[in-house]
Amino acid sequence: MAGGATQSAEQVVNVTLRVLVDKARKKVVYAEAEKDFVDVLLSFLTLPLGTIARLVSKESNIEAVKFNSISSLYQSVSDLKEEYLWNKACKEMLIKPGNSMEAYCHQLKLNIDETEPLQYLCEYPFCRLVRNSWSIFYKQKCKCGMLFNSGPVVIDDMTCVPDGFVKETASFIIRDDLYVMPNHLRTSVCLLKKHGINDLANTEKKTLLITKKEVVDLLKLSLLSKTPITDFILKNKNFLCNSNPKFQSKIRIGKDLPSDSDEAKKNMVVILMVRKSNTKVLFATAEEDFADFLFSFLAFPLGVLQMLEGLSSLSSIDGLYRSMTELNLKNKLCSPGIFPTFQLRNQILPIGTSELSYKLNGKLLNYDDPKPTLSGGYVRGPLTILVTDDLVVTPISSIDAVSYLEKLKVPLDDLKEMVISIGVKEGLSILKASSTTTCALTNGLKPYIGSKPVRANSTSNAALTDIPSYNLKKPKVENEA
Ligand SMILES: [Zn+2]
Repeated sequence: MAGGATQSAEQVVNVTLRVLVDKARKKVVYAEAEKDFVDVLLSFLTLPLGTIARLVSKESNIEAVKFNSISSLYQSVSDLKEEYLWNKACKEMLIKPGNSMEAYCHQLKLNIDETEPLQYLCEYPFCRLVRNSWSIFYKQKCKCGMLFNSGPVVIDDMTCVPDGFVKETASFIIRDDLYVMPNHLRTSVCLLKKHGINDLANTEKKTLLITKKEVVDLLKLSLLSKTPITDFILKNKNFLCNSNPKFQSKIRIGKDLPSDSDEAKKNMVVILMVRKSNTKVLFATAEEDFADFLFSFLAFPLGVLQMLEGLSSLSSIDGLYRSMTELNLKNKLCSPGIFPTFQLRNQILPIGTSELSYKLNGKLLNYDDPKPTLSGGYVRGPLTILVTDDLVVTPISSIDAVSYLEKLKVPLDDLKEMVISIGVKEGLSILKASSTTTCALTNGLKPYIGSKPVRANSTSNAALTDIPSYNLKKPKVENEA
């Protein structure tokens, strides 16, 4: 390439991908790759949802795309004034969520998570000696009152960091939906048959050198297309059309859920403004606990969505998850957790924190949580928020809610106010809907408000009188009989 001398070494790094294309049907039959490419694919599962929203919002070879409602949620945090959060670090955390498997990802040939893994120590020598706490945020306030401004330090002992996710020597076959299998002749023959190919003359072999920019292309396609490799190789422009926007509200949760009675005390109360004619949630109003809950999604690694089986439109990510069983992987990827300190104290979802044991000069480092101990969340309360169906979160006053309603131009007699209590099931359903659709509240809460409203207005045209009540304190939730 001309002008190559000005390129940084990083841009030149690439990994090899070989593909077999069905010439007549213009489809990829399968791809073949070694460890370095498969590790890059599997690393998608380690990316926090907020990081994905940030990565896909930039142009690569493919235009910027939206990661469904997660993208609007991420944008809301970026736009949120710092005064609504407890401190500057709270905002930084949500905009640049930590990757609990960064140690793995930094060994990858192509690592797209550019979040800086810098570590800072407290400036107070006595505190360093006694507490050995560190922060990933420069100049964040330490619990001792001084600042984390010593460093960045290089963590010299990352305990037991394996070299990537799959075995060095292995070779792999990757299906168009990103399902990865060990490379056996019978697997390729099986895939050829499945594509109705009897004569290899009808196929074409291509070898590609994949760059970092193209990994971002693949990430975008893996979220939006059911045939990401075909769309990537053949540079299909209409990949958005072949994604399936139909949301399956049914959730099959792979884990045992905490029982509702245990969790009842943590439930959040949300007031929904629903359109009666089509049961569409126009917006919701809630307090800071619900804002914290939604924002906490941004720190979840993509891999946690595996507990919500059948991700419909994220089918290629489903393919990647299922590969872990096929490849018999038994590493941290199988039960991904949140980066330490990113957990909400009142998190209702059964998603845990990853254990990281970083050492500096032989001493175990303690993670400093910038969130205030008492609240354990990011958002400074008391605060009333308005949340759109697409998860745009904004702090509001009651007047804002009325003017927002005006903008929507919905006949007032078509409006219905509902109060719903968000527990584990509702919460997981919103999480699933937010990563697979742009109507996170409508789709996520449909099973809970559709036929059996938690509380509807007593008279059908009383909606208007209820509108100016958004500055109210937590309303009472009527229990379903
Ligand atoms: Zn300190």
